[in-house]
Amino acid sequence: MVFRSLAHRFTRGRILVALGLAALVTPQAASAQGIRVQQHILAEGSPAQTPCYVLRAKKAGPTILIIGGMHGNEPSGAAAAAQIASWNIGRGTLVIVPRANVLALQAQKRRTPGLAGSAGDLNRAFPIGGKPRDGIATDLWNLVETHKPDWVIDLHEGFDFHRTNKRSVGSSIIHSAQERAQKLATKMIAAVDATIEAAGQRFDRIKTQVAGSLARAAWENAGIPSMIIETTSKTHALSYRVRQHRLLVYTFLHDLGLEPSPPTTVLGPTAIGPSTDLLRVAVFDGGGTGKNAARHMRSVLETADNCLVRRVGSHDIRVGVLNQFDIIVHPGGSGSAQAKALGKSGRTAEIQFVRGGGGYLGVCGGAYLAACNYEWSLGLLDAKVIDRKHWRRGVGPVAVEWTPVGRTTLSPGSSASKAPRFIIQYANGPIFERAGKSELEDFETLIFFRGELTQNGAPAGVMPDTPAVVRANFGKGRAMAFSPHPEKTAGLYALLNNSLPWLAGHRQ
Ligand SMILES: [Zn+2]
Repeated sequence: MVFRSLAHRFTRGRILVALGLAALVTPQAASAQGIRVQQHILAEGSPAQTPCYVLRAKKAGPTILIIGGMHGNEPSGAAAAAQIASWNIGRGTLVIVPRANVLALQAQKRRTPGLAGSAGDLNRAFPIGGKPRDGIATDLWNLVETHKPDWVIDLHEGFDFHRTNKRSVGSSIIHSAQERAQKLATKMIAAVDATIEAAGQRFDRIKTQVAGSLARAAWENAGIPSMIIETTSKTHALSYRVRQHRLLVYTFLHDLGLEPSPPTTVLGPTAIGPSTDLLRVAVFDGGGTGKNAARHMRSVLETADNCLVRRVGSHDIRVGVLNQFDIIVHPGGSGSAQAKALGKSGRTAEIQFVRGGGGYLGVCGGAYLAACNYEWSLGLLDAKVIDRKHWRRGVGPVAVEWTPVGRTTLSPGSSASKAPRFIIQYANGPIFERAGKSELEDFETLIFFRGELTQNGAPAGVMPDTPAVVRANFGKGRAMAFSPHPEKTAGLYALLNNSLPWLAGHRQ
């Protein structure tokens, strides 16, 4: 096991992460921070290797083992566990493995690719009355034996709401047969049910733990009470399910006296990043985003240097989670539907975030949202959308050309770094012109359209030579809008990654 010790300081809400080898951080220096975070790698050197985070508060308290990502087609548990690993605690110890089954998560499949029988289903690999024999299950069981946790919590998702479909365990807590567990689960369910409007989506308590699961093995083999917390992948965006996981785990930790960060903590003070210049990026995945648009956008932005990316929804934005981030990204889809999902208070929160120094990146639908000519748009850019009647002008490749500043800022590392003109994917993005609003700064054009699409009656000659990518300061913050889709064009992902340092420019 290789340990990387991390000392954390919290200044003005900013994360300062001092990262180094254990020998470089004295125990005194680490404990002076109030919380000590260590990261080590399970199954190190194997294709299944995955990080484990140990958060130790200064004050004594219970030890909780939290696992996410046992099943690769249940991304909410993995995402929630990663977010909880960034929380502060006032007491006790959290041992967190956010991505237990990395190979299955990568394949987006329940089972580990290439493994047959119980070995393939990681949550059936923990025998009652014995130990797991191989693979990552042995490393997870070692955590139980080494840390001797007071509880084991395993985060999962079902395919449907158990309340209305008994074939699924979605939206339930499956707990060990123990009065304490029953009482705690009831409390947790009350907390999450208070946020759920549809009666058929409320949570149930289930007492039968499945044989082979880590939760059951912890209880039956080691006498450690346990819970499997299941959200439901049907209907809601990832950020919504993760929010439920966060609230349930928060309620649990709070009740046990660990004094955790608030349940709205998506990217908290102990987040572990690749450097001290961490860029914290939120990708909107709420209503109006295109199918898989947020997931794809996140995977592209995660390839940027020093970047931590989390998905957030309308609920998150309305309660102020953007304060935890440097940049908000609105991907493609429908700008008006995203605005509707945000609601007036969500839109106000975004405008205030940028005015106060945040960065806004909008692509296609997200670019419409940044304009100033709709009653629902955010008005971050002095840009109005023209020829709105023919917004369905087409989906396909279109020729564009750099401006000098655009090329300097966005082209490095892309396939278009040497060419003045290049081809980019376009899908009914906005055609901008200056709106001339005196209270807004003039935008700067980084890329111009040179070609055009003229489907569905769109007249020729409107699109060429209009701005394709623009940027401007807004208050203390910055906004950039892409009408076309670099994230859908091979070789051009770098354009989005390169936009991030400029968007976070208030930090310099
Ligand atoms: Zn599962």
